[in-house]
Amino acid sequence: MTNPAEILGLPKPAWAADEVGMLYDMASRFMSEEIAPRYDEFEKNEMVDRESWLKAGAAGLLCASMPEEYGGSGGTFAHESAIIEAIGHVGVDGFGIGLHNSIVAPYILHYGSEEQKKKWLPKLATGELIGAIAMTEPGAGSDLQGVKTRAEKDGNHYKISGSKTFITNGQLANLIIVVTKTDPEKGAKGTSLIIVETDEVEGFQRGRNLDKIGLKANDTSELFFNDVRVPTSNLLGHEEGKGFVQLMQQLPQERLQIGTGAIAMIERALALTIDYVKERKAFGKAVIDFQNTQFKLAELKTEATIGRVFYNDCVARHIDGGLDPVTASMAKYWLSDLQGKVVDECLQLHGGYGYMNEYPIARMYRDARVQRIYGGTNEIMKLLIGRSL
Ligand SMILES: Cc1cc2nc3c(=O)[nH]c(=O)nc-3n(C[C@H](O)[C@H](O)[C@H](O)COP(=O)(O)OP(=O)(O)OC[C@H]3O[C@@H](n4cnc5c(N)ncnc54)[C@H](O)[C@@H]3O)c2cc1C
Repeated sequence: MTNPAEILGLPKPAWAADEVGMLYDMASRFMSEEIAPRYDEFEKNEMVDRESWLKAGAAGLLCASMPEEYGGSGGTFAHESAIIEAIGHVGVDGFGIGLHNSIVAPYILHYGSEEQKKKWLPKLATGELIGAIAMTEPGAGSDLQGVKTRAEKDGNHYKISGSKTFITNGQLANLIIVVTKTDPEKGAKGTSLIIVETDEVEGFQRGRNLDKIGLKANDTSELFFNDVRVPTSNLLGHEEGKGFVQLMQQLPQERLQIGTGAIAMIERALALTIDYVKERKAFGKAVIDFQNTQFKLAELKTEATIGRVFYNDCVARHIDGGLDPVTASMAKYWLSDLQGKVVDECLQLHGGYGYMNEYPIARMYRDARVQRIYGGTNEIMKLLIGRSL
């Protein structure tokens, strides 16, 4: 398969050279050969099966940016970007390994004790543990300070009670980072992140695998914690009350990662549509021969190019440790908005076939919508950018 990014004709950034490029090729092959042929089945079952996670682990596609001593591949965010781009380019967007790799595992790496890292990271790297992060609750989404899930200390255990919703990988996850209040009086300063290993506890229940309009192959779910007892050693960080700060520190990478999916899907939509309009005939000529088609695609290619250059710059800065939260918010908001626009215009150029599920652009249209909502809505991104003015 050719890389749909080539449609833009841009030079590869330095961070995507050599082994990152090889990882991209390997990940594309894996997604095309192992995941894509079964993707309809995964959408029907509303989850990718556990076996595919284990295969991804065996292929080195889990925890690529974790240090080798903890079972990872010792890479950087560039490696995670290569994997997420491959997922987007092949069109298997519901496979939730991006969240597992570049959101869940980094919390353990950055805030975990040596013992926690040794215990959990190698199993996340094989796929034996599947990761999720449970922030959102029925009454607390954008306003995370409103989280009600309570973790009460009881000797050398915490007793966790509360409910979470919209949790990616929610049916399969057996390692969940739970955003809790250890001291509800203190608001944000009373927030802590606690790991729940679901196979080890009682009182944990999975709720519905939610019926969504897109990303059907992901098991986005409700989770319930009814006096779930976990050892106090499952707290992330040395002391309670650091959860909010930890979330704020990690959110830029989560937001950039949504930008990764966006730019990859933009490139795929363009590549597929250019092929389609060259084939499809109307009024005795190919659809690409209409000036409107050329103008539309010229606009989209220009915007995609701007998006890719911006994205590449964000990754370069992030690898150097210099991506600030405001720029990460810009990347999340602008690239996901652009994704919505490009996919919509590309669907239009497919005519009625674009509305048919057998054409990939239809699924891309459904999958794109949530990108403007999760990881902090685009309105919240603008709020954060606005504060920098
Ligand atoms: C498919 C999917 C997967 C998800 N995965 C996860 C996951 O793995 N883990 C997790 O914890 N969460 C997850 N989420 C939850 C997601 O992050 C939240 O849905 C999102 O943060 C918005 O919260 P909300 O749905 O409660 O909307 P609300 O906060 O109720 O917002 C409703 C509307 O009000 C707007 N709004 C809110 N506050 C303001 C403000 N101050 N100014 C202007 N406008 C505002 C919002 O932008 C939005 O348009 C997922 C959601 C979906 C749909």
